Parts: sequence; structure tokens; C-alpha cells
Amino acid sequence: MIISSLKNDNISKKVSDKNYNNYFTAFTGNNDNTFQAFSTIYSKGIKNYAVQQIIKTPTLTGNTLNDAMNELEKIHFSQNDIKYMQSLGVDVKFNNGKEIADFIKKNKIKVEFDKMGSKAAHAQWVKANNKITINHKYKNTTNPLLIVAISEAICHEGGHAKDGDDISSIKEEFDCLALNTLANRYHQRAYPNLFKENSEADILKNGVNLYTELFFAPDQNKERLVNRIINKYGDLPLTSPNHDQITDSAVLYRLIRKKRSN
Ligand SMILES: [Zn+2]
Repeated sequence: MIISSLKNDNISKKVSDKNYNNYFTAFTGNNDNTFQAFSTIYSKGIKNYAVQQIIKTPTLTGNTLNDAMNELEKIHFSQNDIKYMQSLGVDVKFNNGKEIADFIKKNKIKVEFDKMGSKAAHAQWVKANNKITINHKYKNTTNPLLIVAISEAICHEGGHAKDGDDISSIKEEFDCLALNTLANRYHQRAYPNLFKENSEADILKNGVNLYTELFFAPDQNKERLVNRIINKYGDLPLTSPNHDQITDSAVLYRLIRKKRSN
């Protein structure tokens, strides 16, 4: 019944082509984010099946952490989003969620719910414990929106873990915030219905959803993003020793100027 499998970059062109009027598409949730086209000449049952696939929600088992790790593996960053982040001066440290999940497994990094050093923190990486901690207030949640948010927070902490040290910086936070934003953008595309819900949860409202709004704000200067990073991380050094790359970017230079005038 599957007549063709198309990369998502090609799909909008294909479905808008008049020759393909008899086809409709379904997001199948493959890890590589391919779409599959079905023909309407097949039975209504198949058609309904495909329609159900479009209204997709995360597959949940009831184990919050396992579910978040499963969602992490599925995250696919859009190439356009990656290029956009690079234009702001971000060093994109991973290409997709699977790379982050593999990095966590390879380095035997523990991911657990626990109390946070700071109540306001959603998640944290501590090298001494080789552990990513998620705020215990989300333990046992079965809310799919929170579960995908947890997977996005794990992307952020994976970014901190990658350089192998505990020393953060404004540039490192900027790069890690971009990772949760790339993941959040993927989830907003993959699960549009889920994101129609308004959530008051802190991890969304003051975390992952907020940063998507700030990184993708229409103003070129990203005024709110720069102000937010300085307010939140202004006491950190501008760069971490040895590894932070400052690339030629207006947004990054604004961040540097703001830090120096702080
Ligand atoms: Zn951070």
C-alpha cells in the first residue's frame, strides 16, 4: 500500500503538484522523518489510517523518563533552522536528537529526576556525578507536552555535557539554548495539535517554548533574547576556557557588548 517514500524537504512540492492530486500524505514518525504517500484508490480503511497518522501525538508508555528519551531519539533539526542558528553565531553542537541520545548512552550519563540546586532550574548537568538532573516536579508526568519539553531540556543539557567540563559561559548557554529551541521547533512541526494546548508549566512558559519565541523573534537584533540571556546568565564569563567559538555575528556581538556594559 505504500507507493512511495519521500524526504520531507520534497513533500510539499510533490503534494502541490497536480499530478499528485490523487495522493495524500501521512507523517509516519520514522526516525529519519520521512513521509510516505498513500494512494486514495486504496480502501477507506487505509485512508483513515493515514489521516490518523497526521494527527500524531507522542507514543507514551507511562514511564516518563523512558518516554522522554524515546522522544529525544526522534528529534530531527531542520536544516534551515540550523543555518538560521549559525547565522546568529550559534555553534550547533549536535545535528539531531539521536546524536544526543547516543552521546548520553556512550558516556553512560545518568538522566534522573531530582531536586534542583536552584528551584527555578528545569534541568542541570553536573560533571562530577556524570548526571543530567530534571526538576523532580515533572516526575511521573504523563502529559505529552511536558514529556516532549523534558526531551528538549535534555538536548540543552547534552550540549553542556559535550565539552566535558562543568564550566559554563554566556556563549555556552547561547549554544545550548539553541539546541532546546531546535528541538522545540521540531516538536511544534511534528505535533501541531499538541502545541495548540496552552500550558502554564514553567518548563514551557519560561523555558523551551519561550526560547523558540525569542530566537525566532522578527527583530534582527533579537533584543529580548539578548536581554534575557544577560539577565539570566550575566554573572557567567563570556566564554569558557579553550573551547567556545565566537563567530562573526551581529547578535553575538550584541550579547558581548551587553555583557561588557553589565
Ligand atoms: Zn544551560
